[in-house]
Amino acid sequence: MEQPPVASKAAQGLVLRCTAVDCAYNEKFRCIAEHVVIIRHQDHADCSTYTENTHKVYRVGM
Ligand code: SF4
Repeated sequence: MEQPPVASKAAQGLVLRCTAVDCAYNEKFRCIAEHVVIIRHQDHADCSTYTENTHKVYRVGM
């Protein structure tokens, strides 16, 4: 049985900046998740690791 391809270290991406400030993994625009899963959603990519944070609120631009 053929195994799925595994990304090399060099091919693994990092989220350098994320504007989903209401995500539980977002610390001042930095993603602190150990890893994220990106999925295709209609005509754009979405982060399916997004987790709505219910205990902190950032107010951007205020
Ligand atoms: S998990 Fe996804 S949505 Fe949440 S901070 Fe990281 S990249 Fe952004």
